[in-house]
Amino acid sequence: MKSKVVVLASGGFDSSVMLYFLIKKELTVYPLFVNYGQPYYAQEKQAIQKICKYLRLNLEEVEVSNISQLNLSDKNGFFPCRNAYLLLLGTIYASKIRANLLSMGIIKPTATEAYPDTSKSFLQDMQKVIDNSVKSKIKLFLPFINLSKNEILVFAYKNKFPFELTYSCYKGKAKPCGKCAGCRGRLDAFKLLKIQTLEQLKKS
Ligand SMILES: [Zn+2]
Repeated sequence: MKSKVVVLASGGFDSSVMLYFLIKKELTVYPLFVNYGQPYYAQEKQAIQKICKYLRLNLEEVEVSNISQLNLSDKNGFFPCRNAYLLLLGTIYASKIRANLLSMGIIKPTATEAYPDTSKSFLQDMQKVIDNSVKSKIKLFLPFINLSKNEILVFAYKNKFPFELTYSCYKGKAKPCGKCAGCRGRLDAFKLLKIQTLEQLKKS
């Protein structure tokens, strides 16, 4: 039987490419989209719906938008405890459908995007919390954790992944602002890709 994996999917570049990567790994993929009151909810939702349609995945959505009453994302898109909260929601879903893996699009931190809740020690602690929270065994599976945005972009490019469907801007406008941390990370990767793609493609 194929392993089942629940994936926290935001419609952003990293988690969307990861959905594709996990399908290629022959896992049965269950994307979970969380409405936690993010200002860019509408754009993310539209993107993840398009991605799931393209990949023929059934999207599950959970609405917990009132947690934004307690706090809001800062200008860099950082929301306190977001990943812990999302991983626990993913654990709840994984234990229902008996998935043994739980995934999230965490990648190697970049200069523009380095959050405390993507560190290895945070993830080790979360694994312990998950182990002590549910009866079944659910393992965090983070295949992109040592990959840079550029390496993911090269993978997407080689596999003709439609990254134009994804959305990574923290402003929430239909047209990405090009200035926030989400946009900058993406643009930097594209710039690098132009220079390095041919070289990297030849190497791999
Ligand atoms: Zn932006």
